[in-house]
Amino acid sequence: MADVQEVDVLIVGTGPSGSSMALHLIQQNPAWARRIVMVDKAVHPREKLCGGGITHMGLNILAQLGLALEPQSFDVREVRLLYEDKSYSFHGNPVFCIIRRSEFDHWLLQKAESLGVTVRQGEGVTNVTPHEDYVEVVTEKAVFHARVVVAADGSRSFVRRRLKWDDDSRVARLIEVLTPEDGRAQPEFRDGVAIFDFTPMTTHHLQGYYWDFPSYVQGQPMMNRGVFDSRARPERPKADLPQTLRDEMAERERNLDDFEIKGHPIRWWSKDGRFAIPRVILVGDAAGADPLMGEGISFALGYGDVGARAIVDAFARGDFSFATYRERVLANPLFRQLETRTKLARFAYMLRYPWLFRLGWQVARLVVRFTRWRNPDYVPTIPPAVTLEVTGIQYSVVSDQ
Ligand SMILES: Cc1cc2nc3c(=O)[nH]c(=O)nc-3n(C[C@H](O)[C@H](O)[C@H](O)COP(=O)(O)OP(=O)(O)OC[C@H]3O[C@@H](n4cnc5c(N)ncnc54)[C@H](O)[C@@H]3O)c2cc1C
Repeated sequence: MADVQEVDVLIVGTGPSGSSMALHLIQQNPAWARRIVMVDKAVHPREKLCGGGITHMGLNILAQLGLALEPQSFDVREVRLLYEDKSYSFHGNPVFCIIRRSEFDHWLLQKAESLGVTVRQGEGVTNVTPHEDYVEVVTEKAVFHARVVVAADGSRSFVRRRLKWDDDSRVARLIEVLTPEDGRAQPEFRDGVAIFDFTPMTTHHLQGYYWDFPSYVQGQPMMNRGVFDSRARPERPKADLPQTLRDEMAERERNLDDFEIKGHPIRWWSKDGRFAIPRVILVGDAAGADPLMGEGISFALGYGDVGARAIVDAFARGDFSFATYRERVLANPLFRQLETRTKLARFAYMLRYPWLFRLGWQVARLVVRFTRWRNPDYVPTIPPAVTLEVTGIQYSVVSDQ
């Protein structure tokens, strides 16, 4: 057996939730950097199936860490929601940004690494065994005894499976394709319009929507097109996702057969879920994300904040039960919003009563007219400069060490 390496915090997974956890711990105290090891089976920049939309909630968490978005991004100035022949829009400057996950995740991880965190890539975790005083984590190359393990390993979390996590969490289904486009000749690119089309709820029994996200891949304009099926009502029959995507693309004069379909689940958030066991906490998709719209990046970043406070507290008190981690998550405003979205998903995707959905649609359309989202100049993000000073001092202390 390989030599055992002792570590205070072992983070499994280097997506946004894993990196955010490391960065938030360092924000609490720069000395944490040397106490963290991050492992990932992939090597960055790695592909991650995702629309890449980051809302102001995620951008504001980055800003509070003193980070301005550096990877190339596409500003969405209008989010247009369609249902049958009706539509309404959210406006903003921007409403949200679209990034490529391979670039974004790599960038965020490099931020943690540059502050002194040990990052081990291309090293999958193959076993996890909790003990009273430590958790043994076996990877393809080493054995660790960690005082705390953070499972940031996504919707199909290996850690969850290995530890036979006993809650009945569910997953949403998503498929997507990338289609080459003309770029600024098209209104979506020229005016920055992202589309969420809920019509397949009626035409294909989908519990979700079809999306068109304009983006750039290595400088080339590409439309990210996909279908989100929340399965918020698991008792209803499953929609045929490839057929839904095919029909929606045909309406936009694209043939699905010309492109490669890729799919991946998103684990739902549930307030009744189990978020921790002694010495192990879940973050990001391993813990759960949004069943209404499929938003996960902002929540992945937010778990880093709540999780880091719980870990600092555990070490301070010498109590690694994480008995209050769930309460901490539930008390956080970001996750209170996730709870609202979970309720809304169950209501909105109540297919048996489409008239109810139409009614809700009309109400939402009216409400938006009275919010700041009607204003194309509305800036929902906070500038990183506000907090850069604070965290910047902490960071420079670390890099000087
Ligand atoms: C098709 C699709 C479209 C989406 N679009 C959006 C969107 O537009 N906006 C949005 O906000 N959210 C979107 N999401 C959700 C978003 O992608 C996730 O919420 C987000 O990736 C969660 O981040 P994470 O860090 O928890 O996990 P991940 O980003 O999945 O990272 C998990 C990491 O763990 C590693 N790992 C897994 N197993 C092991 C192991 N055994 N050992 C070591 N490492 C391991 C993986 O290699 C990976 O790097 C979308 C999801 C899908 C599937």
